[in-house]
Amino acid sequence: MTKALNISHDETHTDNGVGIQVACQQCDVLINIPELGEGEQATCISCGAVLAVRSSFGSGLSLACALASIVMLALAYVYPFLTLEANGLGHQLSLITLPETMYENGRPEIAASIVLLTLVFPMLLMLLNISVLIPFHFGLTAPRYATAVMRWSHHLAHWSMVDVFVIGVLASLTKIVSLADITLGVGFWSYMTFAVLALVSLWHFDRPPLWQWIEPHVHRGERSSGVTG
Ligand SMILES: [Zn+2]
Repeated sequence: MTKALNISHDETHTDNGVGIQVACQQCDVLINIPELGEGEQATCISCGAVLAVRSSFGSGLSLACALASIVMLALAYVYPFLTLEANGLGHQLSLITLPETMYENGRPEIAASIVLLTLVFPMLLMLLNISVLIPFHFGLTAPRYATAVMRWSHHLAHWSMVDVFVIGVLASLTKIVSLADITLGVGFWSYMTFAVLALVSLWHFDRPPLWQWIEPHVHRGERSSGVTG
């Protein structure tokens, strides 16, 4: 079931304490999300992008997937990503050496992008979400850092480009496969598993109940501003 919405700015509470206000990641329209029932989702009135989902599985699925994704990301960086063989020569690529290779080839901006967008930001996003999901899931009091974590998590979600990286890798592989023999390594499968787990975790990261849990610690002066309608 889908609910349509109206307008505000950044992620924050609404004044009546029900629902949250977010900027659509696709079109930047400012949206006031009403309280959702279990299994419902809210979509942007402008572009139709999904803004929030009330998970039928509760916070447990998001937490489990986030924890498992951290393990998979670590494995992806420890093990070889893939091996290329052409004309009797083999070359092994790993995610940990890929930025170094790019840097040595005079592409420091690509090296930095790979490290930030495929490792640092997604890992930080998962760790931030875990830091609020654990106390929330086990019925503890909201920690003082929870408000800041929720806002950083919201902003980082714009810069975690796991899905873009996966599509880029798959598109590159379809071209390389005609030039060389490719053997996919443990690192490749670990990263793909990480990507799926991270996306499932984010899909089920249910923000409205988290904000309602944090509410006693949030003061009006700390809220994001710019409510416009
Ligand atoms: Zn939109």
